Amino acid sequence: MAAETPTPIPIINFKQQALQLLPDGASFDACLTCGLCSSGCPAAGIENMDPRKFIRMAMLGMNETLSTTPWIWCCTMCRRCQHVCPMSIDISQLVLLARSNWPNDRKPAGIVRSCTLIRSTDSTSAMGLPPEDFVFVVNDVLDEVRATQPAFAHLQAPIDKQGAHFFVNQNSREPMSEPDEMVPLWKILDLVGADWTYSSKGWAAENFCMFAGDEAAWYDVTRKRIEAVDDLGCSVWLNTECGHSYYALWNGINRFDLDVGFRLESLITYYARWIREGKLPVNSDWNRRAIKFTVQDPCMIVRKAYGESIAEDMRFVVRSLVGADNFIDMQPNRSANYCCGGGGGFLQAGMNEQRRSYGKRKFDQIQATGAAYVLTPCHNCHSQMEDLADAWHGDYHVVHFWTLICLSLGILGENERTYLGPDLLALLD
Ligand code: SF4
Ligand code: SF4
Repeated sequence: MAAETPTPIPIINFKQQALQLLPDGASFDACLTCGLCSSGCPAAGIENMDPRKFIRMAMLGMNETLSTTPWIWCCTMCRRCQHVCPMSIDISQLVLLARSNWPNDRKPAGIVRSCTLIRSTDSTSAMGLPPEDFVFVVNDVLDEVRATQPAFAHLQAPIDKQGAHFFVNQNSREPMSEPDEMVPLWKILDLVGADWTYSSKGWAAENFCMFAGDEAAWYDVTRKRIEAVDDLGCSVWLNTECGHSYYALWNGINRFDLDVGFRLESLITYYARWIREGKLPVNSDWNRRAIKFTVQDPCMIVRKAYGESIAEDMRFVVRSLVGADNFIDMQPNRSANYCCGGGGGFLQAGMNEQRRSYGKRKFDQIQATGAAYVLTPCHNCHSQMEDLADAWHGDYHVVHFWTLICLSLGILGENERTYLGPDLLALLD
C-alpha cells in the first residue's frame, strides 16, 4: 500500500497576518534587533532559529520558511522574550499563528492526540479517562486510605456536590498514573476544613488544544469546563498543582471573552493563606539535616498569569516548609525565570533531543543552586525537570508542594512518598 502523502503546509503572508494580531499602535517593525529576546530564550539555536531571527524573517516576508519551520513546536510560548523586550513584542503570538496554520497530520502527533482525547469524553481529560473511571479511581483510593490510615478514616473526596465553595480540578496524570498523589491534597483540604468537590464532568484541567493551535477545540473544551463549574454552582475553580491547566482556562476565558459565574484561583495562594491563618500549621523542624530546596516558577502561572504575587506566595510557603536558610533561589527567578522546556506541548511533541537541549539551561540553573530538591506546582515542570535529571545526570529530585506539606505535618502516608529521595525517606523511618 502506498504511503499517504502528508498534507502540504499552506504558506501564509506572515507579516500581514501577524500585524492583525497586534493591539493598536504596536508594530513588529519596532524591533530594535537588540537580541535580548534571543539571549534569554532557551530555544535559541534549535532548528537554526531564534526569536529575533523569527521577527526579522517575518518582516522580510520569508513566509515559506516561517510557515514550515519545526522550531514553532520547540518554542514553548513561555513569553520570556516579551518579558525582556524593550518594545514588548510578543513572539509567542506569531508562534501560535504558525502552529494554527499547520494541517493536523503535520502537527506533532502527541499534541493532536491529547487534544482529540480531551474532546472524547465529558471528563475533558487529555488521557481520555472517562467520568465513570475517574469516579471509580477516586472512591477506590479513598476506601483504601480510610481502611489503612486510622487518622483519616473520616477522609472525604466529594464528587458532584452541589453548591460546594471550591470546584477542585485534577491533572489527569494523577487518577490515571499515580492515584496516591491525590491523597495529600485531600488531607490538606480536610485539615483546613475546605468545602470542596470534584465534578464527574470537566474535572480534568489540561488543554492541549490550545497548544495545538486549534482555536475551535480550545473554545469547546473551555465552554465545557465552565458549564461543569456553573452546573454545580461553585464559587471558586481551584487549580491544583498544574500551571498549564490554570493558564489554559484563564487564557481561554479571556481570549473568547466568556462570562463565568466563579473565580479562578491557584492552590498556591491558598496554601500561603492557610499557613498565615494557622490552618496549615507547617514548620521546618523536621529538616534537621538542613536539606536544601529550590523552587521552579512555572511560566504559566507566574510570568504569564499572576505575576510576582504568586511567586512571593510560593517562596513564603517553601521557606515555611523547609526553613529560610535551606531555601536557595535559582538565578534568574520569578517572572524572569527560564522556562524548563516542558510547556507549550513540548513534552508531548516527541522531539526529545530538542526538548532536552532546550532544558539544559534549566538543568544548569538547578545544579548551580546545589539544592537536593526542586519544588514546583506544575506537572509539566515536574516531568520535564525529572527527565532532565536523567538526561543530564543530575542529582536532584522533584517534589510536589502537597507532598512536603504533608511531610511537614507528619501525615504523609507510605504510598504517598514516590518523589522523595533516600534522605527524606530516611527521616520518615
Ligand atoms: S528583544 Fe524585542 S526589540 Fe530586541 S530583538 Fe527581540 S523582539 Fe526585537
Ligand atoms: S516564547 Fe519562550 S521559547 Fe518562545 S521565543 Fe520566546 S523565550 Fe523563546
